[in-house]
This record gives sequence, C-alpha cells and structure tokens, in this order.
Amino acid sequence: MNDCIFCKIVKKELPTKIIFENDDFIAFNDIKPVSPTHILVIPRVHIKNLWEVEDTLGALHATSLLGKLLLTAKEIAEQQHLDEGFRTVINTGDNGGQTVYHLHLHILGGRFHKWPPG
Ligand code: AMP
Ligand code: ZN
Repeated sequence: MNDCIFCKIVKKELPTKIIFENDDFIAFNDIKPVSPTHILVIPRVHIKNLWEVEDTLGALHATSLLGKLLLTAKEIAEQQHLDEGFRTVINTGDNGGQTVYHLHLHILGGRFHKWPPG
C-alpha cells in the first residue's frame, strides 16, 4: 500500500490536519471541498472499498467496523455543529465515482444538498 495517499495520511507521511481520530478512524478536510463542510472519514487500515471490506477484515469485523463508521460520522457531524443536516456518501468503484481506492466516507454539510446527486 506504499502508494496509497490515504495510508500516507494515516502514517503521517503526508502532513494533514487531523480533525478527529479514534481507535479505528481518522478524519480530515477534503482537499477539494464541494460544500462548506467536507470531511473525509477513513479507516486506519487499508481497505480498498465497500466491495473489499469482508475479504480484508472478515465478516464479523467488517460488520463492526462499518457500524462504527456511521456512528463516527454522526459524532463528527455533531462536533461540527451540522445541526441543520448533513449528507454521508461512500463512492464505490468507477461508476460510483471513487477516485481514491482506500475506503472513505464523505460528510457534506453547511448547505442544502439536492437529490438526486449528479
Ligand atoms: P472519491 O471520489 O469518493 O474517491 O473521493 C476522494 C476524495 O479525496 C476527493 O473528494 C478528493 O478531493 C479527496 N482527496 C484526494 N487527495 C486528498 C488529500 N491529500 N487530502 C484530502 N483530500 C484528498
Ligand atoms: Zn490506503
């Protein structure tokens, strides 16, 4: 995983302001924000995307980690005072618009987000 940009952020090889961390995840601001608040939550371990979670971690750990990911997103949204609402997004594969192949969840807030997305 030497060339994974998010693994480099986890290992602090790429200086990035960490805005939240716990045992399983770190969170930081997206470098190209599309909303006033645009935060990425990533697992500390390298998992390519949702397709790969069970193969990487095993079914039991996968279930636990994905549950914690959503609860962590909610905790971060609360810390960021996104009281009027926020959107969570996980892009998977090329058609999902995934560009960085290390699982991550986007938290978007600070404006109204229309549906459906583009
Ligand atoms: P996705 O298209 O879902 O794979 O999202 C990848 C996101 O990572 C994009 O929104 C990028 O702007 C963001 N990104 C890429 N490199 C960095 C970086 N070094 N620091 C913060 N965000 C990044
Ligand atoms: Zn990685």
